[in-house]
Amino acid sequence: MLILDGREVSKKILEDLKQEIKEYERKGFRKPSLAVILVGEDPASKIYVKRKRETSEKVGIHSICVNLPESISEEELISEIKNLNDDDNIDGILVQLPLPSHINTGKIIETINPSKDVDGFHPENVGRLATGIGKGVIPCTPLGIWLMLKHYNIDIFGKDIVIVGASNIVGKPMSLVFLKDEKATITVCHKNTKDLKSHTQKADILVVAVGKPKLITDDMVKEGSVVIDVGINRLENGKIVGDVDFENVKNKAFAITPVPGGVGPMTVVSLLVNTVHLYRLRHGFPPHPFAQI
Ligand code: NAD
Repeated sequence: MLILDGREVSKKILEDLKQEIKEYERKGFRKPSLAVILVGEDPASKIYVKRKRETSEKVGIHSICVNLPESISEEELISEIKNLNDDDNIDGILVQLPLPSHINTGKIIETINPSKDVDGFHPENVGRLATGIGKGVIPCTPLGIWLMLKHYNIDIFGKDIVIVGASNIVGKPMSLVFLKDEKATITVCHKNTKDLKSHTQKADILVVAVGKPKLITDDMVKEGSVVIDVGINRLENGKIVGDVDFENVKNKAFAITPVPGGVGPMTVVSLLVNTVHLYRLRHGFPPHPFAQI
C-alpha cells in the first residue's frame, strides 16, 4: 500500500515556487502578493489563515492579512474587496470562508475580480473550468489532488472515479477537473444519494469530501483502488481525522492519503501556485504549468 504523502509532494512544489520567485526578483520584478481577508474570530479560520500566510512568506510571496470584525456590514466588506481589486500590487485575493451569516457569500465571491480570484470560486473561473475556454483558476483542493495524482503517476484515463460530496469548493470542481478531455467517468454522490456503497465499491479512484469521520469503511472500497480523503474532522479528544476509516481501508487500497498530511498541505501549496499563476498572467507571462490541468 502506498501512502500519498502530501507533505513531501508539497515540499517539492514549494521549493520550485521559491526558485521561480527568486528568478523574478533577480530580473527586477516585484514579489507576487496575496491578500487574505479574515472576518471575525473563528479559531479554525484563524489557524488556516496563519498557515497560508506562513507558507506564502516561506516561498517569497508577500502576504497581507486584512482582519475585519464579525460585525462588519456586507457593504463595508465589498468596499474592502474593491480596494484590493484596484490595487495593482495585489495579485490574489482570498476571503476566508465561512463568513458570518448576515453576509451573502455569493455576493462577496462575485465582487472579487476574476483575475485576482486565487480560490477559483468566481462564476467566471468556474465557467472557464467547466468549458475549457480561456485561462482560469482551478480551486485549490481539486488542483492539489490533481498535482498529487500527477506526482505519483496515477493515470486517470478510462478510470471510474467516484466523488463523495458535491460542494462548490471541493466535490463539484473536482468532477470538472476529472471530466476535462473526457478522460475519466465521474460519479458525484451527496447527501441524497441512495445506497452510497453501491457507488463507492465501483471506484478505481475514490475522493471523499464530506466532513463525517469513518463515513467510508473498508467494505465500501474496491480492492486496489486509490482513496483520497479530503475530510478534516476534530474528534472530542482533539485528534484530527478524515472521512475514511484509514486503519482498515489502507489494507484494501493500492494508495491512500493520510489525514493530516495528505490533501491539506496540497491545498495550501495550490493556493500559492494559483497566486504565482495570477501574478504571471498580470505580467503578461504564460499561465503557470502547475495551475493547468
Ligand atoms: P460541505 O459541507 O460544503 O459539503 C459536504 C458535502 O457532503 C455535501 O455535498 C453533502 O451533500 C455531502 N454529504 C453530507 N452527508 C453525506 C452523506 N452521508 N453521504 C454522502 N454525502 C454526504 O463541505 P466541504 O466544504 O466540501 O468540505 C468537506 C470536508 O472536507 C470537510 O471536512 C472540510 O473540513 C474538508 N475540507 C478539507 C480541505 C483540505 O484541504 N483538506 C479543503 C476543503 C474542505
